[in-house]
Amino acid sequence: MSSTQKQGKAYLIGAGPGDPRLITIRGREILEKAEVVIYDYLAGTKLLDYVPKGAEFIYAGKKGGDHTHTQDEINTMLVDRVRSGKLVVRLKGGDPFIFGRGGEELEELVKADLHFEAVPGVTSASAAATFAGVPITHRDCTSSVAFITGHENPDKKESRVAWDKISTGVGTLVFYMGIKNLPSITANLIEHGRDPQTPVAVVRWASRPNQRSVVGTLADIADIVKEQGIKPPALTIVGDVVNYRETLNWYENRHLFGQRIIVTRTREQASELVALLEENGATCLERPTIGIQPPDSWQQTDEAIGQLDTFDWLIFTSIHGIHCFFDRLFSRNLDARALKGCKIAAVGRVTADCLREYGLNADLIPEKFTGEGLAAALLDQSIKDKSILIPRAQVARDVLEKSLASAGAKVFIAPVYQNVPPAADGEALRAELEAGDVDMVTFTSSSTVTNFVGMLGMAGPALQALLAGVKIAAIGPITAKTVVEHGLTVDIQPQTYTIVDLVHAIVDDSAKDV
Ligand code: SAH
Repeated sequence: MSSTQKQGKAYLIGAGPGDPRLITIRGREILEKAEVVIYDYLAGTKLLDYVPKGAEFIYAGKKGGDHTHTQDEINTMLVDRVRSGKLVVRLKGGDPFIFGRGGEELEELVKADLHFEAVPGVTSASAAATFAGVPITHRDCTSSVAFITGHENPDKKESRVAWDKISTGVGTLVFYMGIKNLPSITANLIEHGRDPQTPVAVVRWASRPNQRSVVGTLADIADIVKEQGIKPPALTIVGDVVNYRETLNWYENRHLFGQRIIVTRTREQASELVALLEENGATCLERPTIGIQPPDSWQQTDEAIGQLDTFDWLIFTSIHGIHCFFDRLFSRNLDARALKGCKIAAVGRVTADCLREYGLNADLIPEKFTGEGLAAALLDQSIKDKSILIPRAQVARDVLEKSLASAGAKVFIAPVYQNVPPAADGEALRAELEAGDVDMVTFTSSSTVTNFVGMLGMAGPALQALLAGVKIAAIGPITAKTVVEHGLTVDIQPQTYTIVDLVHAIVDDSAKDV
C-alpha cells in the first residue's frame, strides 16, 4: 500500500432493536460519513437515511433460513471494501457482540491486518424488557440474568446450553431466536426443575410501533404463542420479573398504541403530526395527498419583494407561505430587515411560532385560527386604503382577500408555492383500506380531503362503505365541511385548529373508547 493511499477502516455498529432513535450518537456519527454500509435484516432501514447518498449499500440480511449472502461472502465483502481504502460500516441489529457474530467478523479483519472499531448497541433483550414493562432484574426477586440462544435444538445430545444449571441457577432467562423451539425450551426448563408456574413474556418487534407481546407461564406460553400467531423476531423472558409488567407496561398502554393512522399532509409538513401521534403510540402511514412545488411564475412575488417598503401589512396564512416567501427573499440577498416598515399578521399560533424562527414577532394573531378569523381581526384595525401583501399558495381560498378588499384595503397576492397532487398510488391506498389495515385518517386541509377522495377514485355509498370502520379526524371546520361534502362523517375535530390540538382531540377520543 502506498503511503498516500487512504487507509480503509471498518466500523462494527450496533443498530439497536428497531426504533431508529435507539442507535448511539457515536453510531450515527459514523453512519453519516460511511462510504459502504453492509446491513442486516434487523438493522432497520430507516437508519440508512443517515448515510451519504453516494455510498454503496449492501443488504446482507437473513430472515429465518433465507440468506442473501453466506457468512463467508459477507466476510469477503467486508475485507475487500476496507482493503480498498473505504470507510465501511457493518451495521447489525441490537448489539453486534450479542448473538450477532460480531466477534467472528472482527476476527476476519484482524486476520487481514485491517483497522476497525466497534460501537455497541441496545440489545433486543434490553429493549424488549423496557418496552414490555419487564425490569430484567429487580432487587425483590432476582439478581442474575442470562442471555441464551434458543436456536440450538434442546434435544441435541451435546447441548452447549447448561440446562441443568440455568433452569434453577439463574433468576431471569432471556432467550433469543427461540420462537420455533419454544415448546422444547419450556419443557427442558421444567424438566430441569424450574417451576411450571414461572411467568413468561414473549415480545415481538420490541421498540417498534408494531410491537406485540403475550404473557403466560412456562406451562402454557408455547400454546399461547402458537394460538396468537407470534412469529420471529421475538424474545422470551422467563422469570418472576415478568409480573411487574402489570404495573409497568407503559409503552403498550399509551393511548394510541396499535392504532394505524393515515397522515395525508405533504411529506414536508407531516413531521410534527407524525411525531406527536407516534409519541402517543400510533403507527403512522404517511400517504401524502399533496405535493409542494414553486409557483408557475415568480413575477408577482418578485415585484412585491422589490417594493416591500410600500406595504402596511404582511399576512401569513401557512408555514409553507412563510418558508417559501423567505427562501425567495433570501435568494435575492435580502433579509428580515426588508420587512421593517410592515406590520405582520399570522393566522395562528403555529405560523406565529414559525415567524419567530425568522426573528419576527407577529403583531396580530386572531382568536380563531382561520382565514375568516384573521379577516375579522384585521377588520378591527383601520385597514382602509392600507396596502396588504399576502404570500400564499398560487391557488387558495379567497375569503381573506375578499373581505379585506371590501373593507377598502389594497390587497396584493404573492404566490410563493403551489399545491400539486403527488404521483401517489391510489390503488395501494384503496387496498390498504379494504384490508381493514387502517383505523383513522387525518385531514389537515380541504385539499387533503379532496385529493384523498380523488386518489381513491370513489364517491357516494362505495366511498362510505370503504371508510365505514375508519375514523376521520379533521383539523378545523373548513376541512370538516369538505369531508361532509363528500358524504363522509367527521368523528374527531379539535376546538382550536392546530396540529397539537388535533392530536389532543384524537387522544381524548381514544380514551373515550376504552
Ligand atoms: N444482536 C442482536 C440479536 C441477533 S439474534 C441483539 O443484540 O439484539 C436475532 C434474535 O434477536 C431474534 O431472533 C430475536 O430473538 C431477537 N430480536 C432482535 N431484534 C428484536 C426485536 N426488535 N424484538 C424482539 N426480538 C428481537
